[in-house]
Amino acid sequence: MRGRESKRAIYNPIIAMSEVTTANSTRDTVILGSGCSGLTAAIYTARANLKPLVLEGHEPGGQLSITTLVENFPGWPHGIQGPELIENMKQQATRFGAELKMAHLVSVDLSKHPYELNLGAGKEPIRTRTLIVASGASARWLNLPSEQALIGYGVSSCATCDGFFASGKEIAVIGGGDSAMEEALFLTRFASKVSIIHRSENYRASRIMLDRAMAHHNIQFLSNTAVEEVLGVEEKEVRALKLRDTKTGAQSELPVAFMFLGIGHIPNAKMFQGQLDLDDDGYILTQNNVFPMQNGKPVPGVFACGDIQDRRYRQAITAAGTGCMAALEVEKFLEEHGR
Ligand code: NAP
Repeated sequence: MRGRESKRAIYNPIIAMSEVTTANSTRDTVILGSGCSGLTAAIYTARANLKPLVLEGHEPGGQLSITTLVENFPGWPHGIQGPELIENMKQQATRFGAELKMAHLVSVDLSKHPYELNLGAGKEPIRTRTLIVASGASARWLNLPSEQALIGYGVSSCATCDGFFASGKEIAVIGGGDSAMEEALFLTRFASKVSIIHRSENYRASRIMLDRAMAHHNIQFLSNTAVEEVLGVEEKEVRALKLRDTKTGAQSELPVAFMFLGIGHIPNAKMFQGQLDLDDDGYILTQNNVFPMQNGKPVPGVFACGDIQDRRYRQAITAAGTGCMAALEVEKFLEEHGR
């Protein structure tokens, strides 16, 4: 678990550290995010000779880089590991001239075109004619003080990264959606017992995932149960969860060595608050999938793709699809407005 970063994704430091010679020049396009949608946009814009710059963001590779087997991405009849799929996309993009940079957007003023991207104190800003926002969504936490204190010490939002450390231990997975089911099933490879803890008895998970989890002999379901506290802060090691029955209020303790969160994601669009229209949960509102808006009107040269604007499908293939669409719109925009 302490080696988390090294296990997140198959990662090519040579590509990531490639220096970007953009000072005082204006790029044709910059892509925020290196998940499935951002890298698909990179492949398309690179093949259009636009030399895209991909800012990798806080979670390089996005959600695929912290998942295991992907069985529903077309072209892989036996499935492919998420990190491998992302690494393949990176290689495909860089082969055609895309540049990848370990950086994230701190702020941008969308009222002035070309756009100037502020990457933080002491970093050269980047000017660009077009911007593809593919910044995705990040894991959600319970936000209990004890949970936050024990992140990295038995609390994790990444089963793929940290499952190995739970070998032979009893663990808990929080959530009632597909992520929780997928994590729980994956973690049975390591853990001696997995408890899925869900705050209600209504599960959002797809029938097939729920059935798989329910059929597994090492998984138990604790419905109508909320986590009140993670115990072990003083020892710096999770030892149990304090639980509350959401119907009766009864409290109990569940001894576990790990708690994995599988309770969904938060869109990474804060830096666009007030500049792009967001929905109540902070996802970017778009017209025709890829056109973000400001007060209901499209913003010239700015496009959004992937999970940052999609709360309905949220699949790798739909993220790739909208990444392709955003890239084609960039080409069209530059043809119409000049490079
Ligand atoms: P989700 O479907 O939104 O489910 C989130 C779960 O977490 C819900 O059960 C929710 O409970 C619970 N939750 C949220 N906030 C909570 C909190 N503060 N405390 C306790 N519980 C909380 O998210 P997801 O499972 O990440 O799935 C997102 C999308 O990705 C879905 O469309 C899913 O199908 C897809 N996905 C697919 C696969 C796959 O096919 N292999 C794998 C992963 C995800 P409530 O229901 O009570 O709100």
